[in-house]
Amino acid sequence: MKGSLPQMLLSLFFKSAMTSFTLHTFALTFLTSAALAEGGFYGDAPDATHPWAIHDMNRPQPMRVEPGTFSSQERPGNPPSDAIILFGGKAEEIEKWQADKKPAEPTQWEVKEGVLQCVPGSGYIRSKEEFADCQLHLEWSAPSKVEGNSQGRGNSGVFLMGQVEVQVLDNYKNPTYADGFASSIYGINPPLVNALHAPGEWQTYDIVFRRPLFKDGQEIDPGYITVFVNGVLTQDHTPLEGGGGHKSRSKSRAFPEKGPLKLQDHGNPVRYRNIWYRPLPKRASEGGEYSRMSEAAVAAKRREIAKDLRQDAAKLEGNAKMYRLLESLCYADDPAARESGLAAARQFIDHLKDTPKEKLESRKGDALTFLKAMDYLIKFKVLPDDFALKATIAEVVKANEWDKKK
Ligand code: MG
Repeated sequence: MKGSLPQMLLSLFFKSAMTSFTLHTFALTFLTSAALAEGGFYGDAPDATHPWAIHDMNRPQPMRVEPGTFSSQERPGNPPSDAIILFGGKAEEIEKWQADKKPAEPTQWEVKEGVLQCVPGSGYIRSKEEFADCQLHLEWSAPSKVEGNSQGRGNSGVFLMGQVEVQVLDNYKNPTYADGFASSIYGINPPLVNALHAPGEWQTYDIVFRRPLFKDGQEIDPGYITVFVNGVLTQDHTPLEGGGGHKSRSKSRAFPEKGPLKLQDHGNPVRYRNIWYRPLPKRASEGGEYSRMSEAAVAAKRREIAKDLRQDAAKLEGNAKMYRLLESLCYADDPAARESGLAAARQFIDHLKDTPKEKLESRKGDALTFLKAMDYLIKFKVLPDDFALKATIAEVVKANEWDKKK
């Protein structure tokens, strides 16, 4: 991408805080001319399964997130700007947790020197915050004094939604059953590899969690977990199969809408730090726009985009208005927008024909842009193959040899 003025202004603009809604509206109005030059009538048009064109400048810009910093053994890193912090090292953050009991009561787990530590025998803890699909980051450390073996050494656990355990266990030179290994989905799937540091050192878990989805009692998505241990992939989009458990094979089941994060007391004083999550957008199968949408959802989205473009067109004039209206037809047809866009197109051709010969060369760019738009709209069946204005503009371009590179 070249550093055009609109792009430079945009990048400046992105640096200031703003909501994605404002950003979207802004992008629609501001990018009009840039879109025509760089994006409009460019990539393959929207179709039955894709609401946007390829390289569509109307597609909303990704929301800006300030990245965090990585942790070292000595100190935890900073979370990204949109993370929800469940434990960041402050003593008072123990208030974000409670004993996993009914009725709820304060936890006996302790915060010492910026670290949340399991007090063996006091029971699991759960976050007061409840959530579902997320990117979860946390760091844990098994006791440096090695005691016990197999499942009895540095055992704790991270329970997403309180439902499914990503195992926490000191498996550094400590064999155990593979589906109960550190970062296994406990009782379901072993980790791909053992990437643990020695006990006493900090281990980092980065987890991507998607809960199972059911519709009318039928599973439409089993739910998945992806895990990186110390930056190494250990679970690659592993299906949940009901969430797993001890000894018994779990069956596919619906999870609640949301739930707390639970940390396990398995009798070992495991320590935690730097616990945060970022909620994930809804999947297409639950009405979101993330991942592949249904054809009905695509059609609805295309109508919405077309409507936005027509509202944008109402604020524009001249060629910009004409192109915005014609562009909107690529998403969803509308008789009024079609009539108005084509009337403007006819006017454009009339003006071009009326242009005195000595001034004609100055219209070359406009003519080529118009020809490109006509070609695109015909290619994607927005206009008929024999559309008369296309033939007219092609003749003008040819007569002036504007189609030849100089
Ligand atoms: Mg455990």
